[in-house]
Amino acid sequence: MACRFEGVFRMKRHFSDRIRSFSSSPTLALDAHVKRLQAQGIPIINLSVGEPDFATPRHIQNAAVLSIRQGFTHYTPTAGIPELREAITKKLSRVNSLSYSPEDIIVGAGSKHLLFLAFNVLCKPGDEVMIPTPAWSTYVEQIKLAGGKPVFIELLPPFRLTGAVIEKRLSSRTRLLVLNSPNNPTGAMVGRAELRRIAKLAVAHNLWVISDEIYEKIVFGTQHVSIASLGREVRNRTITVNGFSKAYAMTGWRIGYAAGPREVIDAMIALQSQTTSCTSSVAQYAGLTALTSPQDCVRVIMKTIEHRRNATLTALQDIPGVTVTVPEGAFYLFIDVKKVLSPKISTTTMWCQKFLEEYCVAVVPGEAFFAPGYIRVSLTVSTKKLVEAIRRMKLFIEEHR
Ligand code: PLP
Repeated sequence: MACRFEGVFRMKRHFSDRIRSFSSSPTLALDAHVKRLQAQGIPIINLSVGEPDFATPRHIQNAAVLSIRQGFTHYTPTAGIPELREAITKKLSRVNSLSYSPEDIIVGAGSKHLLFLAFNVLCKPGDEVMIPTPAWSTYVEQIKLAGGKPVFIELLPPFRLTGAVIEKRLSSRTRLLVLNSPNNPTGAMVGRAELRRIAKLAVAHNLWVISDEIYEKIVFGTQHVSIASLGREVRNRTITVNGFSKAYAMTGWRIGYAAGPREVIDAMIALQSQTTSCTSSVAQYAGLTALTSPQDCVRVIMKTIEHRRNATLTALQDIPGVTVTVPEGAFYLFIDVKKVLSPKISTTTMWCQKFLEEYCVAVVPGEAFFAPGYIRVSLTVSTKKLVEAIRRMKLFIEEHR
């Protein structure tokens, strides 16, 4: 009897090489699995997804509704509506000390898609792209699709990227460097002095820098610095990517932006014109209101996450054998569980699977971030649920020690 999937397997032989070596997002896959279990009535504490549990602030929702009522429901210019590009330049100047014209800005369907455009514009076949790890898996897949070659720079706790480690790994083929501060999954940041060293290296070695600053607003008692603000030369080789998803709880609206040298932005706009055309008009009007209104909602999100971070760190102190670097930003804890693995549960992928099955808590294994031995906990549910999840983690570890 023919296998049910035979047709699919036969079909896959015809897929492009690019797509055959491509992996989909492990965190989104896990989240989808958890949501299916929740829909069956299983009460799972979901700490797997990188999305705040806050509602999009009411004034931003209202702006979107108004834009629909006023008829702004058509294609927009590919690069984004002029008012929003202008508002982004003002924000970049006010918050990031970056000076750009609206023509140096592109608005797109989330920072994820802007990264995709940037890699496709800048990667030539075989170009090496440095990615400090632990890292968000999207960079790797997008770089491979663009024809580049990801090169990992492995960082150990406290996961601080330095110019010295980058310098050690430079080769004649290195063309790009990916920066992500605050980092997903570790929450580590790169301070001004170290960024200066990295900027110098980028200029001296003719590297492009892709600076993913999506978590810039979620920082705890420290200041985020944009590498492109550190001088004209580094600015001329940096694409700064940012968005609304995390700071304004707007993950579903799919809107982000990038700023950089005009030629690169123009090429990204050209690519966007032949792929998505533009991002949603409604999301753009919502984004405009997000940037031009008082920023209290962002402070509330940040303070709530800081409170959750502190409570979860305190709860973790109760579990012998697990260690965690205190994150300076973003909304994750990246926990070292190597010492509590066992011959029966010997990898963090297995560990997370069992923890979900037996204790109904979903966390992401470090393998998804090229860092086995760790788990990522998202601080995206209430403090009460987080503390309960850590209590269950303690029981799970005691049971399987
Ligand atoms: N960059 C990093 C490091 C992320 O963790 C995420 C989402 O999890 C994104 C970018 C994507 O953000 P957006 O919703 O703007 O595409």
